[in-house]
Amino acid sequence: MAQTTQATTTTTTTTTTTPPLPAYFPTTSTSPLHPPTALYAKLKTLSEENGGLIKTAEILVPPRSGRAWKVPAGALFRLSTPAGPQVGTCKSKSKSKSKSKSQSQSQSQSQSQSQSQSQSILFSISSFVVQDGGDLNVFNADNPRERFWAARTRQLQSSHVSEGDRLWSNLPYMRPLCGVVEDGCEVRSVGREARRDARGGVTPCGGRCHDLLGTRCDPYVSHMLTGASYDFHCHSNLVRALLPHGLSESDVHDVLNVFQVTGLDSQGRYFMEASPATPDSTLTFFAEQPLLCALSTCPGGDLSAWGWHQAQDAATAAAGDKPDMKATCRPIKVEVFELSDAAKGDVLQGWREPAVSGYAGMHGMAVPGGED
Ligand SMILES: [Zn+2]
Repeated sequence: MAQTTQATTTTTTTTTTTPPLPAYFPTTSTSPLHPPTALYAKLKTLSEENGGLIKTAEILVPPRSGRAWKVPAGALFRLSTPAGPQVGTCKSKSKSKSKSKSQSQSQSQSQSQSQSQSQSILFSISSFVVQDGGDLNVFNADNPRERFWAARTRQLQSSHVSEGDRLWSNLPYMRPLCGVVEDGCEVRSVGREARRDARGGVTPCGGRCHDLLGTRCDPYVSHMLTGASYDFHCHSNLVRALLPHGLSESDVHDVLNVFQVTGLDSQGRYFMEASPATPDSTLTFFAEQPLLCALSTCPGGDLSAWGWHQAQDAATAAAGDKPDMKATCRPIKVEVFELSDAAKGDVLQGWREPAVSGYAGMHGMAVPGGED
């Protein structure tokens, strides 16, 4: 018997949905949400070679560890990953302009380390090696109650930071702590760029670099998931880095995951991809206030071998045939640069530290002055 094919009628509903605009955008010509493009473009041209920058500090944050450092307002700090390429996906050093630039930068930085002592400061972080990234905390050095607010920064800027974005502080301060002057870490440098937009490269899975979606790894969630106790997560690394500065565990806050590629899948679930950082990758910030920064080099390494087995392995001293996560862990170099007097007079002319929020209300409350 011949089968009857039932004709189906497909109704096509044409829905024209206009994507909503970003919720936060500049509403005036002087809005602080305008990126400081002119200033940052000038800062980006400064180097030790051209006499614009003077290195005043250098720290190598060892693998699976944490360190803290200070940066004066008006200085730069650079993070870099000098220890080697990321597992399996690294391209040769000579491929990109930014690579050769940062390579010569790091060479000259080591040569001129002895010169660095005075003048204004640039603060930059660079990554030589592929890391899961570094987990960065930022405070106002004079008042550590003012600190980086990752959630608000995510709204004001994006899920991942790139050049021109600034890291904003918590309430009631609500002002930039520092901003990204130069982003020298690209997914395209390791052949993983599927598309590109105004905010940079995107991997085939939708991942972007310098993550603001996630937070630091910590021993509490690790214990919840594995039953093991392990002391060297990013949270603990940051605790130890901040203790000498009079801060404690409760001061550790949500981080910027530098050199880390993350995204949300089709169901909105957080994912991580291996870091694209190479020995030439850098990320340079301009300190808009006097800063105390702390950075953890994540024990998850470059994420190519990451897994929750770490804590269990530490407890049992038996890694078995699991991926060797420690082999993917590398240092991150931190350099602080002040601007030379000449550069300060030119580049920082007219710049001043941003003011705290001008809100003068009392949240609707009328507070009694005292007993009549
Ligand atoms: Zn971590």
